[in-house]
Amino acid sequence: MPDFPRSLVEFQNRFPDEGACVAYLFAARWPHGFVCPACGSNKAWRLQTKAWTWECAGCGKQTSVTAGTIMHHSKLPLTTWFWAAYLMATHSNGISALQLQRQLALGSYKSAWLMAAKLRRSMVAPGRSPLAGLVEVDETEIICRSKNDPLTGGGGRSHQGKILVAGAVEIEDGGAGPGRIRLGEVPDYSARSLHAFLKTNLVPGATAKTDGWSGYPGAPGVSHDPHVVGNMAAHIVLPWAHRIFSNLKVWALGVYHGLRRRYLQTYLDEFVFRFNRRRTPHAAFRSLLGIAAAHAPLGYKMLISPEAKA
Ligand SMILES: [Zn+2]
Repeated sequence: MPDFPRSLVEFQNRFPDEGACVAYLFAARWPHGFVCPACGSNKAWRLQTKAWTWECAGCGKQTSVTAGTIMHHSKLPLTTWFWAAYLMATHSNGISALQLQRQLALGSYKSAWLMAAKLRRSMVAPGRSPLAGLVEVDETEIICRSKNDPLTGGGGRSHQGKILVAGAVEIEDGGAGPGRIRLGEVPDYSARSLHAFLKTNLVPGATAKTDGWSGYPGAPGVSHDPHVVGNMAAHIVLPWAHRIFSNLKVWALGVYHGLRRRYLQTYLDEFVFRFNRRRTPHAAFRSLLGIAAAHAPLGYKMLISPEAKA
């Protein structure tokens, strides 16, 4: 895997024009040279008449280097997509459609918005693997805002104006630090809702470490390691889950001025994406462009690659 540009200057030198972007996509798709997806032939010609498309010498099938990525059928230049993915992958807090429009001098807010939406949709890898090993699991409430009102909630007596979120954090060997995380909206804290969250996000055989809430035990396939404590001490037995929740709340207020109920899972997915790729900006960049998804079917190597671990 080639080095990832560490600065805007490096990025610009690496991807100065469409040709450089095409070469990068070609190498990502065919690391050992062209392979026809239809017949497996290694011989092909690059078409002069169709942008970044190769025609198989064996069967005549034409394959675009952007097929299966979010750039396919887009009228925007590849350099624009590359810049957008780079900005989104490297900004630790994310980037809004309005910022994208300004930074990339896009003609309309609509095209910036569509671009940002496509990039965000790439944040959940289709074949991502569930969390494994020892996993801290906890739940929290996030104040949400309505369309016209900046912030609702307050009083704290009811769930109105609040969204319930379950979170899971892989604990690396010996409790050294957090591995990957998952966040999911839950309708309530019932066993049914929490078991569904565990089933979706933990691999069979994983151990859920919880604060002992009655909603957790008995989830199929998951060992349970309850630590029954009062509310005061929950942050001591589940330090990473609590830190993730507090980072999430700060991020939600700072970047989005509070989250909206309607798009909640999308925001949660974005937060998870950033967190899980905090040490691999290159993987984040490739995921955002949809390059990882372009390989079908997913082989084992792809499933365990950083791109598949959102
Ligand atoms: Zn062919």
